[in-house]
Amino acid sequence: MLSIKHHGAVQGVTGSCHELFVDSDQSVLVDCGLFQGAETSGSGASSNSLEIDFDLSSVQALVITHVHIDHVGRLPYLLAAGFTGPIYCSKPSAELLPLVIEDALKVGVTRNASIIKACLDRLVSQLVPLEYKEWTNAPLTSNHTTKVQVRLCRAGHILGSAYVVFRVEGGDLCRPKGTTLYLFLMGV
Ligand SMILES: [Zn+2]
Repeated sequence: MLSIKHHGAVQGVTGSCHELFVDSDQSVLVDCGLFQGAETSGSGASSNSLEIDFDLSSVQALVITHVHIDHVGRLPYLLAAGFTGPIYCSKPSAELLPLVIEDALKVGVTRNASIIKACLDRLVSQLVPLEYKEWTNAPLTSNHTTKVQVRLCRAGHILGSAYVVFRVEGGDLCRPKGTTLYLFLMGV
């Protein structure tokens, strides 16, 4: 059954992070953010609360809508938790993302150059820059007949920002066979 879980904003600590389940055991994440600003101060936020506290075994891919820290700030934690799938974003976002993450690591995690480099190398190796409006097949690993395609469309937010369109076919979704489902997700 198609469903969306929202992992962000729990206890006012984390930012945008949504998990789209395309069938019972496969999902695509949209954004992996860190909450900034008033809600982080005085909330008793420890580094533990930034860690990825949900099961990653179903996550096949990550789509980034834009590189604001409340949408990408927990990416290092996602990588540390073992996520090895593709990270889809627009071409401008792919240029900006390593700079934003480098900055976030220096400010919030470590100034150790080799740790930062290892994290950025890993990030870049998983980045898959997409052209706007181009459909891309997201890789799915289970035996279901589900097919998921991702498309980024230009959004008027910051450089590289996009809204995401998913096209989901087949699988064990509760709808008539042969139906294609379109889902739009927007991040600001
Ligand atoms: Zn934003």
